[in-house]
Amino acid sequence: MTRRIGSGKLVIATHNAGKLKEISALLAPYGLDCISAGALGLPEPPETGKTFIENALIKAHAAARDSGLPALADDSGLSVAALDGMPGVYTADWAERQWFEGPSGRDWYMAMGKVEGRLQAIGPEADRSCWFSCVLALAWPDGESLTYEGRVDGAFTWPPRGDKGFGYDPVFVPNGRNETFGEIDPDEKHRISHRANAFARLVADQFG
Ligand code: IMP
Repeated sequence: MTRRIGSGKLVIATHNAGKLKEISALLAPYGLDCISAGALGLPEPPETGKTFIENALIKAHAAARDSGLPALADDSGLSVAALDGMPGVYTADWAERQWFEGPSGRDWYMAMGKVEGRLQAIGPEADRSCWFSCVLALAWPDGESLTYEGRVDGAFTWPPRGDKGFGYDPVFVPNGRNETFGEIDPDEKHRISHRANAFARLVADQFG
C-alpha cells in the first residue's frame, strides 16, 4: 500500500520562491501545511545525480533528514533528441554564466542559443524533437521515498518567441500546437506541462 503524506506539515525542498509558490498552489486543495526548505534554513545539497529521479531524490531525502518532516522536491529540464537528451539534468547549468554566481547569473537566452548552435552544427536534418521532464520526489525522515514522473513532448524552434513563461519556454512548441510555451496562456501551459503531468500522478496516488 502506498505511503501517504496525509494532511500534516510538508517541506517543499526548494530555495526557489517561484517553485514554492507553484507547488504550494497545486497542493492547496489538500490541506497540507507547506513550508520551504529555505524558510527552515536547510542547506541546499549538491545535485550530483545523473538523472532527474536521482536529483529529485537527493533534494527530497536531504530536506526530510534535516527537518525531521516529510519533504517534496522537484527536478526538471529539457532534453533534445538530436543532442542525445542534452541538456537534460544540466538544463539549468547551461544557463550559468561563468563570471557570476547563483541564480542571478543565469542567462536563458544564452542557454537556448547553445542548444540552437549545436543543432545547427549537426545540420538541417537534425531531429528537433524535444521534451520537458519533471520528477517529483516525496521522502520521509525514515528514508522511505516515492517518485512521480511527468513529460511533455514537442519541438525546439528558433528564434525564441513569447514572454509569458520562463526558462526554455520560448523555444518549446508542444506537439499539436503552433505557439511556444512562451506564447501560450500560463493557465493552459499549467494544464499540459510536464509538471502538471507529474502532479496529476502524485495527487492520484496520494489523495485519490
Ligand atoms: P532545476 O529543476 O531547478 O534543476 O532546473 C531545471 C531547469 O529546467 C529550470 O531552471 C528551467 O530553466 C528549465 N525548466 C524546467 N521546467 C521548465 C518549464 O516549464 N519551462 C521552461 N523551462 C523549464
